[in-house]
Amino acid sequence: FRPHVVAGNWKMHKGVGEAESFVRQLEDRLEEPSRRDLIEEDLLEVVIYPTALCVHSCLISRSSDLIQVGAQNGHWEIKGAYTGEVSIGSFAEEGCGYILIGHSERRSLFGETDQDVRRKVEAVMGTGAKAMVCVGELLSEREEGRTFQVVGSQVRSAVNGLPEEFVSKRLTIAYEPVWAIGTGRTASASDAQEVCAHIRGILKEIFGPQVANGVRILYGGSVKRDNTFDILKEPDVDGLLVGGASLEVDSFLGIVDEAI
Ligand code: 13P
Repeated sequence: FRPHVVAGNWKMHKGVGEAESFVRQLEDRLEEPSRRDLIEEDLLEVVIYPTALCVHSCLISRSSDLIQVGAQNGHWEIKGAYTGEVSIGSFAEEGCGYILIGHSERRSLFGETDQDVRRKVEAVMGTGAKAMVCVGELLSEREEGRTFQVVGSQVRSAVNGLPEEFVSKRLTIAYEPVWAIGTGRTASASDAQEVCAHIRGILKEIFGPQVANGVRILYGGSVKRDNTFDILKEPDVDGLLVGGASLEVDSFLGIVDEAI
């Protein structure tokens, strides 16, 4: 059994005031017993990824752990002369439960490589946080029939040789086909399943079935309430990474409710 994860990636949206008020409203609604019990019984995790500026205020606006707060990105070094960067270690120390790594916007707009992703995963290992590693193919790569090859090499380079203990307890993978991000074009449930199963197959090959069966694999790309149920009923899809639909409490909560 793998508990579902619903994670909202706010990207570069929301200032401090808006972020705090979102957290308070969402927490109020998650405190309703039907939702709270599922989270407290570890059947569901709800995560938000605010901007780096808003991480602290989101953390201190909570009165419980019903909502976990993560960082959208971080630097692998603990400290040093890296102007403009924030270290993964300092996000974890602040209380971030998850670090998002290698989102396609980081890869395509900011030149992040598989090697950077790997360094960041290793940096998370040195903290108490969990790593959520994003992988996904471009439209052209899908059309050339290279989806498995592209996603497979992203996964292998992020996880090869990592300690099993870390992989089974603190690694999550998010499959986000780039052509489905912010386009309104969702992968079909069977497309999502096919790639998520392929990812789990690679994890099985490297770490064996027991470890691989413990890793949560999420789907992301134009997720909304309407397509949540179909995607999550697939056996290898264990959660959702939501962009646009995570920005309003009602639409995010609609997805959380469908994920239960
Ligand atoms: P959308 O849900 O807006 O397509 O964004 C997906 C995403 O990139 C989440 O990380």
